[in-house]
Amino acid sequence: MLRKNRMPEHHRASNNANARRARGAPALCLALALAASSLPASAADDAAPRDVSGTAPNASAGGAYAVAEHGEHLSPQFRQRAWNDIRDNARKLKLAAAPRSSARSLGGFAWPLALNNGLADPGYHAISNYVDQAGAGQVLDYSCGARSYDGHRGTDYYLWPFSWYKMDNNQVKVIAAAAGTIVGRYDGNFDRSCSVNNNNWNAVYVQHADGSVAWYGHMKNGSVTAKGVGASVAQGEYLGIVGSSGSSTEPHLHFEVYDANANLIDPYAGSCNGLNLSSAWAAQRPYYDSAINKLIVGNAQPAFASCPNAESPNENTALRYGQQASFSAFYRDQLNGQQSQYRILRPNGTVFASWTHNGPAPHYASSWWNWTWSSFAPSGPAGVWRFEVAYNGTTYSKNFTLSP
Ligand SMILES: [Zn+2]
Repeated sequence: MLRKNRMPEHHRASNNANARRARGAPALCLALALAASSLPASAADDAAPRDVSGTAPNASAGGAYAVAEHGEHLSPQFRQRAWNDIRDNARKLKLAAAPRSSARSLGGFAWPLALNNGLADPGYHAISNYVDQAGAGQVLDYSCGARSYDGHRGTDYYLWPFSWYKMDNNQVKVIAAAAGTIVGRYDGNFDRSCSVNNNNWNAVYVQHADGSVAWYGHMKNGSVTAKGVGASVAQGEYLGIVGSSGSSTEPHLHFEVYDANANLIDPYAGSCNGLNLSSAWAAQRPYYDSAINKLIVGNAQPAFASCPNAESPNENTALRYGQQASFSAFYRDQLNGQQSQYRILRPNGTVFASWTHNGPAPHYASSWWNWTWSSFAPSGPAGVWRFEVAYNGTTYSKNFTLSP
């Protein structure tokens, strides 16, 4: 399961004075935030643009989107039921017994998520929890960090930004990390969960040729593949839409893997993985997979909402002279000291505004930053403008039009 702090650090300010007031207030946010992504001492100042040239913004905002985690993804009752179904189905299907010597040496997994239904953003997820490698009462991930919670048996990929909006619009699909046979399938369960509970989830269980099994949980109600138990799925094949069914507080995929002997596998190889030596991934992504998931241009700041209501991205790429204009960037795994170079370019390529921003905390699993002009380019010029961010070796851009 995945629990989001219900007061994420969306510090907003219409001016710097408000920003300074705002950052004194959220003691609760500070208390609830993960230690690894604790709010910097001055979130609003941390959003302030540095090295500004050109026309400076009137306001800045942003900070961590804090995710706190603990609890069970699946009640013991449903976990047992899943195992019973997996074993019964494998027996009925006469799936070949695995060569036991190959257990714990899985490989070749593809990334289990993909863009869907028109989403074209550079990214769409962040990781809240890896497998907990430590015994009861302790937390340790495969890379010797603490990005997990006690007893967590999978990896959690949450949608970021706008997880409910993405779920409602079927924008991120779960796909098979490896080819195999469906040995368990659940659908029809409530999918707008905001809390730890004892509900069953919508899920697909796939047994691979070597006898290992992958669990894909929390999918959207009614989205689970029409294929039934016994059907084959190819690597990369559609399994469902990321949702929040079962014990979950936000739309995310819980991905859990077992070898042929029902031993838990952590697909990520690392020096603190005591479960298996090799990576199960064809191409293992880095522990800190720093990137920008999305850029937004609009007239107003993106708005978050209380669970399980959809967020309002407030995108508008057709701006008018002198309107309020708001520019946002949504990061995953933003690290201390990583500098972003921001630019807004006129149609002829000249710089309207440029500034830099530095990651203010040791690590944010997810963060966002926003800059607003109360009256943007009141005399134009008209044409196609560009919002551009260079970050961690990649330049991201979003075009928008300006007209009288
Ligand atoms: Zn999980």
